[in-house]
Amino acid sequence: LSDRLSGILSGLTRRGSLTEEDVNAALREVRKALLEADVALEVVRSFTEKVRERAVGAEVLKSVTPGQQVIKIVNDALIDMLGGEGEGITLDAVPPVPILMVGLQGSGKTTSTAKIAKRLTDRNKKRVLMASLDTRRPAAMEQLAILGKQVGVETLPIVAGQSAVQIARRAIEAGRLGGYDVVMLDTAGRVTLDDTLMAEVAEVKAATNPHEVLLVADALTGQDAVNTARAFDARVGLTGIVLTRMDGDGRGGAALSMRAVTGKPIKLVGTGEKVDALEDFHPSRVANRILGMGDIVGLVERAAETVDADKAQALAQRLAKGNFDLSDMRMQLQQMEKMGGLGGVMGMLPGMKQMQGQLANSGVNDKMMKRQIAIIDSMTAAERKNPDLLKNSRKKRIAAGSGTSPEAINKLLKMHRGMADMMKAMSKQKGGMLGKLGQM
Ligand code: GDP
Ligand code: MG
Repeated sequence: LSDRLSGILSGLTRRGSLTEEDVNAALREVRKALLEADVALEVVRSFTEKVRERAVGAEVLKSVTPGQQVIKIVNDALIDMLGGEGEGITLDAVPPVPILMVGLQGSGKTTSTAKIAKRLTDRNKKRVLMASLDTRRPAAMEQLAILGKQVGVETLPIVAGQSAVQIARRAIEAGRLGGYDVVMLDTAGRVTLDDTLMAEVAEVKAATNPHEVLLVADALTGQDAVNTARAFDARVGLTGIVLTRMDGDGRGGAALSMRAVTGKPIKLVGTGEKVDALEDFHPSRVANRILGMGDIVGLVERAAETVDADKAQALAQRLAKGNFDLSDMRMQLQQMEKMGGLGGVMGMLPGMKQMQGQLANSGVNDKMMKRQIAIIDSMTAAERKNPDLLKNSRKKRIAAGSGTSPEAINKLLKMHRGMADMMKAMSKQKGGMLGKLGQM
């Protein structure tokens, strides 16, 4: 997809601000990416509208195409929308703090209950009691008891014939009497949303006044994610979402869908069947996964970090006059290093490839760039300005100072002459490489 996108937009490299056409062209691709990631259609629509408003008229960074700039804006908007880095479970209430787990059958409620209980026990040093309110599936209560043994967390003794609400009340009471910090209530699910399920969950909620009501949802749920999240939030009022199966192949569009319709934070992420496969939610990672255009985002970020137009402009002017001293060379090397090495710079600037080739021929690689910079750093200002000063005794001093050899310094000087010649040659071509360097 990224290929397709850069293909469509690579022609548009003029500078300035984003026009409606730029934005529309890029958003067509973004819409496809979001739908491929299984973001619900209504969310795709509202999200892209929001981005359109934000993007039209926005500045295009130098050395970046309008399409790439839109992708970066989309990415940032996605992160904003997904929101709430590190919003974990909150326990600031009178113990035993009740946590209610809700969701459809098979979404991962029971597994997540055990995972969270384990985390609260191990990391937060809390005493946790778990109870299964699943009276429908015969083995459900045993499943939680087995998981409890596995993670070293106690479960409420099973008493036959009680309703979900009765078990919930008993669990809170046992939590209080036993001096537990947290009581986790694992509810039954249904394959689809229905009134009986909602009524039961609402009744349990009313009886236990939980501090957290967590919707456990499968990240692989596609278009249904919005309905599920909306229904549970409307009926029981969610405090957060636990997204399971993020270890799967899906791109996790459900995260965006659910967050968009409920506004509730995604608090934790399940990444496997094992009891320790539980992670904090990282909006930027998930945004990247949903959009699938991390390369472009990284490129724009690097460009934004490193582009110092004024400095480069001044350099370009000096170059145009045929001056390119070792300080200038150092700046070039450092900029390349910051932009992710030679490979990172490649293709970022039209015409840059020519210079890449020259540098590669002169034996420059990423590791060498650091060494070159060290050599230049060991020179005096006068030496940097006038490399002709560098006779043998000075070379020895610099070699010692930079931990290199006089041969390495000769190599650097040769490379510098090559670059200076190249700059001079290019400065004679009107509108060539040099103009682009000026924008670097
Ligand atoms: P419940 O019906 O909502 O209680 O769902 P369960 O907790 O019983 O989980 C249903 C299945 O999903 C089980 O086989 C779990 O091992 C599996 N499962 C739960 N969470 C994850 C997860 O994050 N990743 C993967 N790969 N499997 C999970
Ligand atoms: Mg279950």
